[in-house]
Amino acid sequence: MRTGEELNGERRPAFTRRKFIYNVSAGIGAGLVLTSPLMSLATNIRSADDYTVGQVMDEFISEVPGGVLSPTVDTLKAGSRDTKITGIVTTMFATIAVIRNAIDLGANFIIAHEPTFYNHPDDTDWLKDDDVYKFKINLLNQHHIAIWRNHDYIHHMKPDGVTIGTLEQLDWRKYADKDTLNIITLPAVTLKELIHHAKSKLNIDRVRYVGDPLQKCTRVLFIPGAAGGRVQIDSIRQVKPDVLVCGEIQEWETAEYVRDALAKGDNLSLVVLGHIASEEPGSTYMLKWLSEKFPSIKATHVPSSNSLSFM
Ligand SMILES: [Zn+2]
Repeated sequence: MRTGEELNGERRPAFTRRKFIYNVSAGIGAGLVLTSPLMSLATNIRSADDYTVGQVMDEFISEVPGGVLSPTVDTLKAGSRDTKITGIVTTMFATIAVIRNAIDLGANFIIAHEPTFYNHPDDTDWLKDDDVYKFKINLLNQHHIAIWRNHDYIHHMKPDGVTIGTLEQLDWRKYADKDTLNIITLPAVTLKELIHHAKSKLNIDRVRYVGDPLQKCTRVLFIPGAAGGRVQIDSIRQVKPDVLVCGEIQEWETAEYVRDALAKGDNLSLVVLGHIASEEPGSTYMLKWLSEKFPSIKATHVPSSNSLSFM
């Protein structure tokens, strides 16, 4: 086993590590390793060796309204559909640290929400001679690790598996609009109070924001991940929120729009949580699903943690 620091994806100071373990426990209501209690009760359940990567993928896709998507970025990034599963790791990013943790856990199947090779479709032609790419793909091949990206499918679940996961961790599900979960009506809080709440529920050290900390916020538009400036700005125009809470932005798009809206006199602010913080609870949705559908497979959530630090 690697050290606790590395289990969280990177070497980090102890206080950060404790926060992460707390975060995961709070998110899934169990420890870092969630192995279903059904396992010991089951008499007729097949061993994990009986399941292949393709079977788990097909089972998830069969539950998505509309079924198979084409095109989709949710392809195998390494390994094959026929790989017999020894264990599964769920994560936001299949980083080299996460891959090493999977190896230590005896897991050969990683289900990641985001790309493995630094671009949305995971094109690798342009990386063929890149040393970082070569190191990573060699590590995967040596240890026969399969990686499946579950991005489009989990977002197509009704309700969206990622949005539900994060809303629950934020304690905001009860305030969410029944038809459009991304619109949340909070009891009036100041922007500052909202930011404190989000930081503590999602265990974020710092967020970036645009706006007046004393501004009253009731109508919240929540867009996790990196939806892009056009989507974020179009959604602001349609929903007319007091605050957009999002995963990440292009600095020259949404932040500038909100700044101009404020100058015009609109009651609007922006909170940028960070991409991973805004979607990581969606991975715990995946973990719960696995424990229900494939209780004999050991499944573990390994946080990929934030690549960016703040000084
Ligand atoms: Zn996402």
